[in-house]
Amino acid sequence: MMITMRRRLTALLMSASTLCSAAAHAEPTVAIVFMGDVMLADHPGQRIKQGRNPFAPFASILDSADVRVANLECVIAQGGKAEDKPYTFRAHPRVLKLLTRHVDAVSVANNHSGDFGRTAFAEMLGRLDHAKLPFFGGGRDLSQAHTPLLIERKGLRIALLGYDEFFPRSYEAGDRHPGVAWSEDEQVVLDIRRARAVHRADIVIPFMHWGEEHQPRANERQRELARLMIDAGADAVVGTHPHVTQDIELYKGKPIVYSLGNFIFDGFDDADNNTAWVLRLNVDRTGVRDAHIQVGRIDRHGTPYPTGSPIPIDLKATALAAPSP
Ligand SMILES: [Zn+2]
Repeated sequence: MMITMRRRLTALLMSASTLCSAAAHAEPTVAIVFMGDVMLADHPGQRIKQGRNPFAPFASILDSADVRVANLECVIAQGGKAEDKPYTFRAHPRVLKLLTRHVDAVSVANNHSGDFGRTAFAEMLGRLDHAKLPFFGGGRDLSQAHTPLLIERKGLRIALLGYDEFFPRSYEAGDRHPGVAWSEDEQVVLDIRRARAVHRADIVIPFMHWGEEHQPRANERQRELARLMIDAGADAVVGTHPHVTQDIELYKGKPIVYSLGNFIFDGFDDADNNTAWVLRLNVDRTGVRDAHIQVGRIDRHGTPYPTGSPIPIDLKATALAAPSP
């Protein structure tokens, strides 16, 4: 399964000239890595309690980047009460020690950060602040939820925005209550423009929580919104949630990686669900210079292991077909 997928990916994405080295450009280049869904309750949480580290097999790959970003698909809290829904994920605050070691920023814009209510969500934001782990895609009110996280490296200002569009919408922030950012098109366009005009960002990347679970291809809604975001000024669009990887698209020369799949997550039997993509974007002031994907295999404990060499995304391709997992 994996070999087929890798071969297809390689065939579709690779070209001899794609890996242009950062050194070839005078501009300083910043490497950003994106992990998919990181769920630190259940089995991964138990492993961490036992002193194990589910980030460990990927540690050197993550450490080779300047900025490491993950979607935090759970709430980290001790308080709160589980919402009435099929799956609810609450991780013990002890996981923060590992998170801060391996991750520089987390998106909280997803359908699990509110699983234990607004009090637990607010408790998590306090714990993230205390641990000095910046978050985006959510906040103490609507305004904070839609404010980009600015990360500066080598003089380059990178704005990260996060949006959820998978129910329940009750997790959304309000004028006076904490929660996630929801992707209303007009607001998203405004946020992206403000990231440049007000926050003086050089690079703007929305990290989306969207799409249909277990679908290897993005749907029309994802495609429309991704293009809208790039038209508004996004340099790349990255997504998660479907629990599988999805196809990659180039729009106006900018990469849209619709779904990275799971990263740290247990409870899935299928190989597709246990496939993790870590996306590396090398960016400079002009945008994404090059990009590649490190494929990982997730074991039954929810721990991802890198497999094979990084696969380049050909940013000069006129069209990219779907690498179906
Ligand atoms: Zn999700």
